[in-house]
Amino acid sequence: MHFAEEPHRLGFERASALLQVQIGCTWGRCAYCAVCARHPGPAEVTPLEEVTEDLNELAQGWRAHSRVFLYGSNPFGIPHEQLVARMELIHEKLPSVKSIGGFACISDIKARSDKELAEWAALGADGLSLGAESGYAPALALMRKPQRPADIEEQCARLDAAGITYTLFYLVGMAGRGHGAESAKASAEVFNRIDPYRINVMTLSVFEGTPLYEMVQRGEFEPASERENFLEMRDFVNGLTDCRTFIDTGHDVNLVHFDGVLPRDREGMVKLLSLRAERANERMLSDYRSRMRRF
Ligand code: SF4
Repeated sequence: MHFAEEPHRLGFERASALLQVQIGCTWGRCAYCAVCARHPGPAEVTPLEEVTEDLNELAQGWRAHSRVFLYGSNPFGIPHEQLVARMELIHEKLPSVKSIGGFACISDIKARSDKELAEWAALGADGLSLGAESGYAPALALMRKPQRPADIEEQCARLDAAGITYTLFYLVGMAGRGHGAESAKASAEVFNRIDPYRINVMTLSVFEGTPLYEMVQRGEFEPASERENFLEMRDFVNGLTDCRTFIDTGHDVNLVHFDGVLPRDREGMVKLLSLRAERANERMLSDYRSRMRRF
């Protein structure tokens, strides 16, 4: 298989076949992004020849794959015709595939017409990993995200209309020290209005080589403490009063791991997070985060 680097798999995609279709990101400007620090410059679409070779390899395996996860920073942001060609090839080579997922930015959806979204859906696009990251406008601007809160709601509604489900990502800590509570409140309001299929919570880490690292060195950004991160996560979960969905914090960037169903498990999750905040050993946790591998 062709992978530009050791592939990293989301926990809930553990059963999916990974297929690289892109290296780098078509946006490439988010301040905290370690992927873009590793792959600066324009994103590359993996040539069809390589994709064909990888699909032939997957077809020779013992498993009949039902889902493919397109590997790349935002494969749904590559030119439409090139994406469609790769999705068609997947179905030709792996006829058992029923759905195709991958990372997507809100701006990738915005760039596509309703007709193009319908084509994605017809080709099995579903369960996209969609980076909302925050519903708090100052945090989105600070981190140089291409979307604003209204864009998130608009583009999720367009995916809903096209029949494409998505896991919506929330990034704790994006607003910086002292702003976790307001970020959680604004974001929960946005997520409530969307009520996504699944919510995945991540926590911001500052990695060397990223613009955010430089911002920290210049004193332009102060990361939240781990205690504040737990409290932000708690307030976010507590604020999700209108969501009927899965929520999961299983990624390694989080220093607390749980999953549950909303609203059924909200109270338990809130209690757990309050307890983690109360007992947070800041020195130990920040040391652990500083040694975290880059994603
Ligand atoms: S959209 Fe994602 S991959 Fe692209 S620059 Fe932002 S964080 Fe990095």
